[in-house]
Amino acid sequence: MTRKFDGKRILIATHNAGKLDEMRQLFEPHGVTVVGAAEMDLAEPEETEDSFVGNARIKARAAVEATGLPALADDSGIEIEALDNAPGVYTADWAETPNGRDFVMAMTKTHNLLEEKAAPHPRKARFCATFVLAWPDGHEEIFAGRANGTLVWPMRGETGHGYDPMFQPDGYDITYAEMDPAEKNSISHRADAFAKLIAGCFG
Ligand code: IMP
Repeated sequence: MTRKFDGKRILIATHNAGKLDEMRQLFEPHGVTVVGAAEMDLAEPEETEDSFVGNARIKARAAVEATGLPALADDSGIEIEALDNAPGVYTADWAETPNGRDFVMAMTKTHNLLEEKAAPHPRKARFCATFVLAWPDGHEEIFAGRANGTLVWPMRGETGHGYDPMFQPDGYDITYAEMDPAEKNSISHRADAFAKLIAGCFG
């Protein structure tokens, strides 16, 4: 039985202002006040697990322990079928350089790996997002969202972030980076996970 959220405040375990804003809008109709990790001065824990749920749980639990509030955390990434689901939880790591993250470099590397393997087309991929909602008494609820699509090359589009310019969601002939951001946000892996969270804990 999924536990309903009956508190007044929820801690969102992210330092990303965009994600926080999105959550604020989402929770507004449910009368829940959203508190961000930065305003509580929370440290960012190391993501040492090898699964989305494992890393989301680390972030959620650390936030609960630091604040005593129920906390929601997410972890996301892209899985590429022909690369045995890599980079997956290591999506951000593939973009690391000594001077910060470089996703054009990461996408080029990904494309080169697919070419080296002569991976057949369509090159199927999925964006994944897993949410963990953790309560101070140790209870937690987990929601996994997905968006299936194919990888295109060369990259197309200017909006969005990360792997958006090479990901074309199923049913569309444009990439995430060519889409109106509001439209992307309504069909994305995170939207899927959000919808399950709301239905499960706030419905
Ligand atoms: P995190 O969940 O914030 O740790 O993000 C993991 C990584 O997955 C990000 O650095 C992005 O590169 C990638 N990612 C997650 N969601 C998206 C998306 O909607 N578009 C593009 N990249 C994404």
